[in-house]
Amino acid sequence: MQTVQQFTSLSHLSCSQCGQQYSIFEVHSFATCCNQPLVAGYELSNTFSKSSLRGRVSTMWRYREVLPVFEPDNIVSLGEGMTPILTPKHLRSKYELPQLFIKDESGNPTGSFKARGLSAAVSKAKEAGAHNCIVPTAGNAGGALAAYCAAAGMKAIVVMPSHTPQVFKDECLLYGAELVLVDGLISDCAKKVAQLKQTIDCFDISTLKEPWRLEGKKTMGYEIAEQMDWTLPDVILYPTGGGTGLIGMWKAFAEMEQMGWIGSQRPKMIAVQAATCQPIVHTWKGVQPNAKNYTGRPSIANGLAVPNPFAENMILRVLRESGGLPIAVQDADMISAVKEIAKTEGLLIAPEGGALWKALLDLIDQQEIHRGQKILMLNTGSGYKYLENII
Ligand SMILES: *Cc1c(COP(=O)(O)O)cnc(C)c1O
Ligand SMILES: [Zn+2]
Repeated sequence: MQTVQQFTSLSHLSCSQCGQQYSIFEVHSFATCCNQPLVAGYELSNTFSKSSLRGRVSTMWRYREVLPVFEPDNIVSLGEGMTPILTPKHLRSKYELPQLFIKDESGNPTGSFKARGLSAAVSKAKEAGAHNCIVPTAGNAGGALAAYCAAAGMKAIVVMPSHTPQVFKDECLLYGAELVLVDGLISDCAKKVAQLKQTIDCFDISTLKEPWRLEGKKTMGYEIAEQMDWTLPDVILYPTGGGTGLIGMWKAFAEMEQMGWIGSQRPKMIAVQAATCQPIVHTWKGVQPNAKNYTGRPSIANGLAVPNPFAENMILRVLRESGGLPIAVQDADMISAVKEIAKTEGLLIAPEGGALWKALLDLIDQQEIHRGQKILMLNTGSGYKYLENII
């Protein structure tokens, strides 16, 4: 007898704090039991093996069994994921970093890794029959939402700080989104979203206030393992705003271990923040009990200007479990790094990615990272969208 291969193994949603379960057949925002993010769980049976990846589509949807979409027709894809892991040969030799790698997300649709999360979330919004989606954003998530909504035939409402560089606004308008500008940071945009939702029926795609963007971004973890032949780096540096990618990769590693794809070895996870907005660093150092009342200022790395990350507890847990730590970098150092990597490697990375380079050199000085280790920097976006402030 033939058994039907299910498209997804999604089985439940649970509270990231207490584990209480929520239905996967209803639309949920976050776990109201503990006011924490919801996380998706899968039936990780032996139907999904590494070898089944062979010959599959070269996007993040190659991992469909561990992605949340029920019906293939609901997938909204623009070719996101399966980005290259580069070996920056000049930086390697000049700085004696023989095993330095850059996973380069700049080639994703709309020029950042936000495409992964929004591909997953807009697909689920479509599956839920939504017509409108709304997001508060520091920049890149807005462009990605606008593009994926255009592809899905849905309306996007993007709420963005008014100081965001023009290109982030223009792309939203070109993709047909409604753009709402707010004086303040993404936290102020979130308040505006709450207000708009009272009069407009829309699917809220705020960072970790719905469970699906996390699922899209976790595919970076799957790709790192697959592309590095099922071994993980010793260290991963990740530019952390809301923390979705950091938490997502950690989740992917756990799922892969459960499926027997990798062992128990884990990278040391480094959360890199902007000096002007470093809530995780402040909580980590005991300057504050948590980030709820942290006030930040804008950064050229607008993806890092997230003063009150909703998933703070989950970010801290990943750092603790991995033996990692958070570190902050000045804007001027991010710009120097972007310029240096452009000149030496021919890569025009986002300032968020540039922050990683300065953080890496600092952590080597502090002996938190050793030169011979297998080090992966996750460049989350393209520098082209930031040029007006870099030149
Ligand atoms: C959003 C963003 C980040 C931060 O990502 P989180 O998952 O929210 O921590 C980093 N870099 C870029 C380019 C971004 O757009
Ligand atoms: Zn709970």
